[in-house]
Amino acid sequence: MTATIIDGKAFAARIREQVATEVARIKAAGVTPGLAVVLVGEDPASAVYVRNKGKQTVEVGMESFEHRLPADTSEADLLALIAQLNADPAVHGILCQLPLPDHIDADKVLAAIDPAKDVDGFHISNVGLLATGQKAMVPCTPLGCLMMLRDHHGSLSGMDAVVLGRSNIVGKPMAQLLLGDSCTVTIAHSRTRDLADVVRRADIVVAAVGRPQMVPGDWIKPGATVIDVGINRIDAGIKDDGTPRTRLVGDVDFDSCAAVAGAITPVPGGVGPMTIACLLANTLTACCRAHGLDEPE
Ligand code: NDP
Repeated sequence: MTATIIDGKAFAARIREQVATEVARIKAAGVTPGLAVVLVGEDPASAVYVRNKGKQTVEVGMESFEHRLPADTSEADLLALIAQLNADPAVHGILCQLPLPDHIDADKVLAAIDPAKDVDGFHISNVGLLATGQKAMVPCTPLGCLMMLRDHHGSLSGMDAVVLGRSNIVGKPMAQLLLGDSCTVTIAHSRTRDLADVVRRADIVVAAVGRPQMVPGDWIKPGATVIDVGINRIDAGIKDDGTPRTRLVGDVDFDSCAAVAGAITPVPGGVGPMTIACLLANTLTACCRAHGLDEPE
């Protein structure tokens, strides 16, 4: 293996420490940042994320408000809860865990969140602010990726970046951020022709496709930086007690890519921890803006 492993877990721990220090500072001034997380239904992966978010929110000294609603919650009831959280001065950030059940229109729910409390950065106002290079709430996963890239490279100016995936929550905002840092950005997706050749041109590859180990090492330009956003659970044999064993893998084939890349994020321990750390940082920012306090850098 030649690649430097970018340690998202350690980086995220440093961010959480900085957030905790800032939280202590503003608490001394009488303000406690609060994050409300809304989970509708029983999706097991979402339940794990929500639990981790709540735990880490408390660990940095913020208030955590968890709202777990049954899967058959009506859209009207969910919108009523969002309205209540929008009006609650103790709540500075609101996150509605996706995916929502099919009978609820996710776009409508995201549009109902006060943009100033939209710590996920999915409200159309924040999407527009980001796209026009203005001060926005930036989606946490791409923000975490950008922070790791800046930390590793310093300036990204002029680099060729390929983003695999064009979702609203990862691919598109990632492309906007890289463009904002003066990369030459290509967004690839399931209809892209000659994907391997497209990826081979890139100095930076961000993979967010949701397909286990899809990107092989021979797609990677030697020395490129590979950011693996994917979180996929795959079968990994049978345990001694006869039950199935699973493990998490990313969207890139780690071993073959690490043999060619200059730097790579692991799964787990790369983008995942950075996402939650950025959520806490966004909540702190939202709180400072709400109270006219100096924003952390
Ligand atoms: P989506 O399913 O919303 O989007 C996947 C994108 O990948 C689509 O744009 C799709 O193209 C593209 N795609 C799918 N198959 C191919 C293919 N064979 N070749 C090229 N492009 C392809 O996924 P998300 O963006 O929500 O998530 C992507 C991954 O990131 C998932 O593994 C998810 O679990 C993970 N994730 C991780 C987070 C973290 O904190 N680390 C947070 C959020 C997501 P098209 O548009 O044409 O269909």
